[in-house]
Order: sequence, then structure tokens, then C-alpha cells
Amino acid sequence: MLTFSDVTKEYNGKFAIQDISFKINEGEFVFLVGHSGSGKSTIVKLIIKEEDPTDGAIHFAGYDIGKLKSKALPHLRREIGVVFQDFKLLPKRTAFENVAFAMEVANYSNREIKKSVDYILDLVGLASKSHHFPHQLSGGERQRVAIARAMVNNPHILVADEPTGNLDPNVSWDIIQLLNKINSWGTTVLMATHASDVVDSMQKRVIVLDSGKLVRDSQGGYSE
Ligand code: ADP
Repeated sequence: MLTFSDVTKEYNGKFAIQDISFKINEGEFVFLVGHSGSGKSTIVKLIIKEEDPTDGAIHFAGYDIGKLKSKALPHLRREIGVVFQDFKLLPKRTAFENVAFAMEVANYSNREIKKSVDYILDLVGLASKSHHFPHQLSGGERQRVAIARAMVNNPHILVADEPTGNLDPNVSWDIIQLLNKINSWGTTVLMATHASDVVDSMQKRVIVLDSGKLVRDSQGGYSE
């Protein structure tokens, strides 16, 4: 469902990633790991078409992402849920409104929005805090809101770029368990991280990047 074929991205003549190829199937949970600067965020940006590849092709759910016209971009973005390290919530909107926003731009009715947002906030364990603003929530709770927002349009894939990077270890674990639960319900998950302990204990497929190159793609831990 997501395929990178010899994808290269250069910035000012320097490789951010080089000749990257991999295929992620429906329902997989995949870690994307590597040191800072190894190219993880570049891969995320290419998937959501925030950047275009210098070379190679990216296919996702029938889209040729590199060749996609800008008017098709909203459709693509609805099929890909994204979560970032810094949550990227709107500070003056409540948890409910932050999640609802993702549906408002997709033109759903108010009734559909209320039903889906209540459902998804309950699912991430935040039903009782739906009217809290981000500053009234803990880091872990904010990331749950961000995950709810990413999931509310029922995307094919959830892409998480260092989702636990700003969180304490025990809170990180809760977030990982939530992502794992979402995956067990059928959504494909791609998580970029440098938290090797998490990767080791989950024993999922791991794609390892080093200086923009794919150096390993196998099942199991990070540090073996
Ligand atoms: P990671 O997410 O693994 O930390 P990145 O994908 O952010 O790595 O970066 C990979 C490489 O590409 C780094 O050397 C980084 O400096 C470079 N890079 C990323 N984005 C840009 C940009 N917008 N302009 C120039 N260089 C960039």
C-alpha cells in the first residue's frame, strides 16, 4: 500500500535520503529508526507530500505521490493520518475542536462531526477532557488529541514522526500501546523514532537509516 522505489531527496545538492526502496503492506506496524539527521523526517515529509522527491517514485493507495496534482492533495491527506513530536494542536481550540477541525475541512455535517469526534476521543481515553484546551492537558494527553485528530477521518495509514520525543518514558509507553491498539484494529502504522528501547521491546519490522541510506529492513529489535 506504500511503496518507495529508489527515492532520493536532495537539498542544495546534498542527499537527505538516497536510493531508498521499501514496501509497506496493509496492516503492518513499521518502525523507521536512525540517528538524528539520518533522513526519517524527510521520508515522512515525502509521504505527506510536504516535499517532492528529487528522484524515484512513491506510490500510496493508488496515488503516485510525486506526480499528484495539488487539487488532489486534500484527498491524499485525508487518507494519511500524521502525528508529530510537538503535537501541532491549535492552542485556542479545545480537544474536541482540534479533532473536529480535521473533519470540518473535509466538509462533514455537524452531526457526523459530533458523533465521530466523541467516538474517537473516547477511544484514545479522553472523553472526559474533550472541552479542555491544550494548555490544560498533559503532554501525553495532548499527543492523544493529536492521534485522535489523525485518526478521525479513518486513514489507511498513521504516520508518526517521533511521537514520544517530548514525553516521559512511562507516558511514552502509553502512547506506544495506543498506536499498537490502533494497528491491531487494522490501521497501518509507520513510526519514526530514535527510542531504541521501545523498538527493541516491540519486536516489529524495523527499517534502519544511516546518513540517508537504508541499511537494514528486518523484523525484531533495533540494537541487535
Ligand atoms: P531525521 O528526521 O532523521 O533527524 P532529516 O530527514 O530531518 O533527519 O534530515 C536528513 C538530512 O537532510 C539532514 O542532513 C538535514 O540537515 C537535511 N535536511 C532536512 N531538511 C532540510 C532542508 N529543508 N534543507 C536543507 N537540508 C535539509
